[in-house]
Amino acid sequence: MSALRTGGCLCGAVRYTVAWPPRDLVVCHCTDCQKQAGSAFSVVGVSAREGLQVRGELKTFSHPGSSGQTIERKFCRNCGSPILTDTPAAREQGILFFKAGTLDQTADLEPTTHFWTRSAQAWFSIPDGVTCLEKQ
Ligand SMILES: [Zn+2]
Ligand SMILES: [Zn+2]
Repeated sequence: MSALRTGGCLCGAVRYTVAWPPRDLVVCHCTDCQKQAGSAFSVVGVSAREGLQVRGELKTFSHPGSSGQTIERKFCRNCGSPILTDTPAAREQGILFFKAGTLDQTADLEPTTHFWTRSAQAWFSIPDGVTCLEKQ
């Protein structure tokens, strides 16, 4: 018995389904995510690779992450919505990261961990009861 959730980009060219619940749901306050999301942070779902099916064409932007490994950020080539993030370590572990803000249903999301809180924007109050990591 596994449930699925759906999501997609702003223009609708990219759609995906993801096995639900995800392995983890976290918030990343790193400055790279701030730039890419154009926002204060990214809400990131962690899925088994086989649990995520994407339809539509993604464009990839690769850059060196602060951890030293190459980060592949995949987004809709038409509207630019960020959809997936992949890394060599994720491939080894059989996982894939998706931008949970692109899910069709987001009202009930409860991230467990906040990463890179040292670059969190000052106006944002991190909720009680979550794990906070200054870096990764
Ligand atoms: Zn799009
Ligand atoms: Zn980040």
